[in-house]
Amino acid sequence: MASTHLALDCPPPTADRRFMVLAPHPDDETLACAGLIKQAAASGAAVRVLFITNGDGFRAAAGRHYRKLGISPAEYVKFGEYRRSEAIAAMRELGLRADDLRFAGMPDGVLMRLWRTNWSNMMALPSQTTGTSVVPYGWAVRPGAVFSGSSLLEIVRQEIEEFEPTDVILPHPADDHGDHAAVSAFTQMAVAVARAGGTDPHAPFRLHYWLIHRGDWPQPQGLRPDAALAPPAEMFGLDTEWHGLRLSRDDVLAKLRAVKAYRSQTTIARRFLMSFVRTTEFLGAIPDAMVAQSPMTLLHDLVAPAAMKPIALDAVDDNIIRRAQPYADIRVVEAAADAANFHIRVETVGRPSALAQMRLCLRYLGDPERGTMSGAINVSLRGRASTIPPGVRVSRDATATLFEVPLRALGHAKTAFLDVETSVAGVIVDRIGARTIRLEGER
Ligand SMILES: [Zn+2]
Repeated sequence: MASTHLALDCPPPTADRRFMVLAPHPDDETLACAGLIKQAAASGAAVRVLFITNGDGFRAAAGRHYRKLGISPAEYVKFGEYRRSEAIAAMRELGLRADDLRFAGMPDGVLMRLWRTNWSNMMALPSQTTGTSVVPYGWAVRPGAVFSGSSLLEIVRQEIEEFEPTDVILPHPADDHGDHAAVSAFTQMAVAVARAGGTDPHAPFRLHYWLIHRGDWPQPQGLRPDAALAPPAEMFGLDTEWHGLRLSRDDVLAKLRAVKAYRSQTTIARRFLMSFVRTTEFLGAIPDAMVAQSPMTLLHDLVAPAAMKPIALDAVDDNIIRRAQPYADIRVVEAAADAANFHIRVETVGRPSALAQMRLCLRYLGDPERGTMSGAINVSLRGRASTIPPGVRVSRDATATLFEVPLRALGHAKTAFLDVETSVAGVIVDRIGARTIRLEGER
């Protein structure tokens, strides 16, 4: 049994560091790392927070804010502006100024769709609340930017290349919230593009993953400013190495004031938000998965387990839905490559079943030098309603589902991002979130 003890071994921030914090919604940065932001600002380190959405798709919070039903698109945009003012007030409590904050203004609630399907600007995804398909905020990083995956990737990449961080703080891919998992994916890809460009003097910078939504964690909920906060016990001993940061009494009080600055959120989910005001914060490290092409390995319908490399180890049996639907409870995702194909093996707790839908998204990075394009392979398995792109083969074996993707279909990419998600009757049961994979081997 792996230790569930959180080591308080995050080095305190120093003046020579540059922290870039990714917040899918205003308040995520505070819940995840207000103490780190405050310590970094106080040490003289540079800190920038990039808010991906303005939280303008949160119907319940907007309803409470306006005290009515039937909110107009223009009012949702106003609500997004209001949430920006809350973010500025919250970050002031931690020692940041308004110019340290950047707002992308992308659509709240649908970022996973931008990652998977609405990638090109031709596939712009209109917001269900603000009614627009482009960034409606004049103060955003790029006002008028299209709501598409490529447009969001470009914004994050440019922000990273301009700011030149030493440390990037981003969501853990296995965070339950789809927007959080998506921001993790976009940031991992933007980092890979920035690194491939090779112009960043600070590269390779470090990635640190935060976690906010995971089942009914953290327990017990509510304000307990003298208690420590640790990752969910079942997420120790898997693929993430957790590091803790101790907060001083002053840090905890500043974090409490920052949380309270988000009045539109505390009126809705006060107990949950207050659960993060504790004496510790934590961040995880996830190494990129290296998959070497091994021409000697015979990989046919059944992949030799010895050749497979773990991509993600997932907690199992860790909530009621996963316990009830073991065929949708992901245990491990592995990958291997031979001369012609990329193989992915998804092992679930129970035998695969037509009751569960399994979606695989393998987004890959083109190589400008070779003139290859970026793209994605999307596979959806759901009985007869399955969608399998041409050239991709799927087979099942006991508790595993195997996918064989021709390397040709990936443009012989060297870097790819793999996400696997399961759902039953439209309800998501499990998701590993995007994992960076580096394909190595003779080309
Ligand atoms: Zn959030």
